[in-house]
Amino acid sequence: MKFKILSIFPNILDSYLEDSIIKRAIERKIIKIEKYNLRDWTSDKHRTVDDTPYGGGAGMLMKIEPLYKAIKDIKKKSKTDVKKRKIILLSASGKTWNQKMAKQYSRLEEILFICGRYEGVDARIKKFIDEEVSIGDYVLTGGELPALIIIDSITRLLPGALGNKASIEEESHSEKNILEYPQYTRPAIFEAEGKKYAVPKVLLEGNHAKIKEWREKKQKIKK
Ligand code: SAM
Repeated sequence: MKFKILSIFPNILDSYLEDSIIKRAIERKIIKIEKYNLRDWTSDKHRTVDDTPYGGGAGMLMKIEPLYKAIKDIKKKSKTDVKKRKIILLSASGKTWNQKMAKQYSRLEEILFICGRYEGVDARIKKFIDEEVSIGDYVLTGGELPALIIIDSITRLLPGALGNKASIEEESHSEKNILEYPQYTRPAIFEAEGKKYAVPKVLLEGNHAKIKEWREKKQKIKK
């Protein structure tokens, strides 16, 4: 799976991509990351990517021309079948990302993320993308964190990315509206502030049928 990220701050993505599961997935060639700097598609001396909005209003907007040129160029160079790739614009007013979408998108071979900044992007960009995606009902300063969140949620679903396949089968949201049961690790009794916090007995007894039953009972239904 190839993730392409178009941003005016491509370097801020590095620290997350260069550690842990994502780093390992890159090393194992399960995913590939390509970063693109939008300023490479500008033609003026100052490498301008923003301008004031028509009709007035606060802040600046990302200009359509560099975005269009970048998308066109990146698309042209892609060797992935058009049915297996998508272009996602990160946007606070897009469709809210969820685990079901992560599963669907994990079947693709390539995603190009368009990261907005400032007050967002010239709305004409919508004619050149496939989907507008939000990661939640709040506003961030840029699309880079949302792109990383989406990349992370997809990567852990790809075969070989996690050490244990069962991790993704049993965790929260793997089934509609189900949240994971509580989990514990050693010590069996934890003492703090004069109190003892014990792990539920059933988990210590080694009876797998009973543990399964307890876990099913403890799974939460998301309201
Ligand atoms: N003026 C925009 C609005 O009211 O929706 C907010 C722009 S925001 C400051 C700048 C960029 O951050 C957006 O273009 C988008 O790429 C990204 N962004 C902010 N919040 C986001 C969210 N919840 N989900 C996805 N992207 C988001």
